[in-house]
Amino acid sequence: MLPLKVRQTSSGVHLFDRRTGLNLLLEPSSTGSCSPSLAPRQISVALSNACDLRCSYCYAPKMPGRLNIDALVGWLSDLDQEGCLGVGFGGGEPTLLREFPRLCQRLAGETQLAITFTTHGHHLDAALCSRLQGAVHFVRVSMDGVDETYERLRGRSFSALLDRLADVRTLAPFGINYVVNGDTIGELDDAVAVAAEAGAREFLLLPEQPTLARSGIDSDTTASLQTWVKAYHGSLALTISAAAADGLPAATPFPQEEPLEAYAHIDANGTLKRSSYDDSGVAIGDGTIMQALATLRELSEGTA
Ligand code: SF4
Repeated sequence: MLPLKVRQTSSGVHLFDRRTGLNLLLEPSSTGSCSPSLAPRQISVALSNACDLRCSYCYAPKMPGRLNIDALVGWLSDLDQEGCLGVGFGGGEPTLLREFPRLCQRLAGETQLAITFTTHGHHLDAALCSRLQGAVHFVRVSMDGVDETYERLRGRSFSALLDRLADVRTLAPFGINYVVNGDTIGELDDAVAVAAEAGAREFLLLPEQPTLARSGIDSDTTASLQTWVKAYHGSLALTISAAAADGLPAATPFPQEEPLEAYAHIDANGTLKRSSYDDSGVAIGDGTIMQALATLRELSEGTA
């Protein structure tokens, strides 16, 4: 299987190496013009809605939901063929699923997708890391605040999390996902230092999203976050969710990319959505994922 995945975009040919994370964009003048790939660049998948933590700011749906693994492998194989570069599993907590290592191993063998997942990390011991070895290209570990703040918000031991990060480091490159709110904003410097010390490659800032129970990040905390980012000079790379990048000096690699060219989400009930925050989308059902994507595009453009 070729190490470099090829994706046609309106900005040129995008080459991607899932082993290293290398991205190359060849401008159209050097490659001739081709129709853009039909699949989104990235797909996220909620394997199930189940989680054994109870974070108050969690936005994962609370109704039951769990995807059929064979159907999912078919959908992801189709997306791979149509130019998708990577899949990010979440939920819920993906490591609770017994089939999770086998799913990752299948996808790593049968597709060229980069495989990543978001986890609270507390089940990623040496045994699970060993079963995932070679089948995962990046891991995103949630860590909101440090020490007592983390333990109050997540209800788990912070030192146990640090032990798990030592195991994760042997599995794949990893980053820290950090929900920013009034509780965690003051610990950003400490959290970045802990993440760098643990060997993280990046630090993803996730301003808290509103849910039915909570109003999300407030304006004072947003302003403090912007000030902190602009003053940041650390060596650990900062990233931020696209929805929260306004007002920040964020790089936009594909400025002409339409939202559904960049990203789509499959929820735990098999509904394709524009993002995990959306309430509605298109049920994939017995059709193909590409049919569902075409319908979602029409709905988004108001032509359906
Ligand atoms: S660990 Fe993640 S999925 Fe689980 S309750 Fe917390 S925020 Fe929600």
